[in-house]
Amino acid sequence: MDHFLYRDGALYAEDVPVAEIAAAVGTPFYVYSSATLLRHFRLFDEALDGMEHLVCFAMKSNSNQAVLKLLGDAGAGMDVVSGGEYLRAKAAGVSGDKIVFSGVGKTADEMRLALTGGVRQFNVESEPEMRRLSEVATSLGMVAPITVRVNPDVDAKTHEKISTGKKGDKFGIPIDRASEVYALAASLPGLKVVGIDVHIGSQLTQLEPFELAYEKVKDLTIQLRAEGHEIIRLDLGGGLGIPYERSNEAPPLPTDYGAMVKRVLGDLDVEIEIEPGRLISGNAGIMVSKVIYLKEGDDRQFLIIDGAMNDLVRPAMYGAYHDIIPVNERPAGAQSATYDIVGPICESGDTFAKGRSMAAVAPDELIAFRSAGAYGAVMSSEYNSRPLIPEVLVQGDQFAVIRQRPTFDEMINRDTIPEWL
Ligand SMILES: *Cc1c(COP(=O)(O)O)cnc(C)c1O
Repeated sequence: MDHFLYRDGALYAEDVPVAEIAAAVGTPFYVYSSATLLRHFRLFDEALDGMEHLVCFAMKSNSNQAVLKLLGDAGAGMDVVSGGEYLRAKAAGVSGDKIVFSGVGKTADEMRLALTGGVRQFNVESEPEMRRLSEVATSLGMVAPITVRVNPDVDAKTHEKISTGKKGDKFGIPIDRASEVYALAASLPGLKVVGIDVHIGSQLTQLEPFELAYEKVKDLTIQLRAEGHEIIRLDLGGGLGIPYERSNEAPPLPTDYGAMVKRVLGDLDVEIEIEPGRLISGNAGIMVSKVIYLKEGDDRQFLIIDGAMNDLVRPAMYGAYHDIIPVNERPAGAQSATYDIVGPICESGDTFAKGRSMAAVAPDELIAFRSAGAYGAVMSSEYNSRPLIPEVLVQGDQFAVIRQRPTFDEMINRDTIPEWL
């Protein structure tokens, strides 16, 4: 459920007409619903009731300060994957002891940043990283709390670009080498082992791969404890999927996921961390765009819109599906049409949908891409010198621009021309 619904024939974001936002900020733009963000966070939080836990929002899915502040104030921790994300989380008021640092290529600078600013734990992904982190921590007179990310070799049954827990993926250490890697960790002076980390991929639409992975983590917990390691915390990653195509998808709910976690891991006496991104932010946002032209091709009709792959890259990058709806609702039985929906960028890949059947729309009409709150704005660029599009946050009947569209001058003046030219 989200808070983008038709009311009296017009699409609303909570209590604000989407057309009103479009008139204020221009198209294209992103708009997020506070109520949906909070609802999704709380669903996870409540799903793990009964076990000690922390829900760490994977902020790579949406890292706007306002979104982070909203979730942070509600009690969320953050899962960060770069120094920039770490600083963003801190700037949004999240305390270091609620920030988990993930990522396969953390630099010494990023380690120093997090150690000195405070961090809940590093999720370490390799032996060289382990040695580096121990050196950095020792040089600061500190000890870094760590988990080791293990690769459980399970098939997440998702898109190959977002599968991360299969043998051959670049992430984590093979689970059958965990014993020797944990022994190394215990021998390094700058590290303190606190747990195990696993993250098998994104947009998972079934619970089975999670369960298979968590069973392996459970066995590993018992084994590592027997080998003398203190495993007090399990970081179970993120990855629960959302229904992008609402008419025919129904991925498991956070409640089902939580019940499974409690069933598999409930008697281990561990604290649980989870790192959901998409399920918190995905359906909490839409991208609104305007139709520029309807163009008749030989055998198809192109809907040319003012949004493009630089604004929302998921369709071009992953072949991802987004529901696309008109902002002015059509009565039941209204005329529909079949379009190739494309942006203005000079690449054929700048295509949001091919042969999409939807309500017939006209030039200058507003359309909305659903489920665009995750991996939307954060992956945008200024390709073709199209300024980054604004982000708007709605709460009840109020809305605010939470990232301005840069002016052309601001965009252009970021370049500098050397004096010698
Ligand atoms: C991407 C990522 C997540 C979040 O994945 P979602 O599919 O957005 O829930 C969580 N943890 C790690 C380590 C990640 O790389």
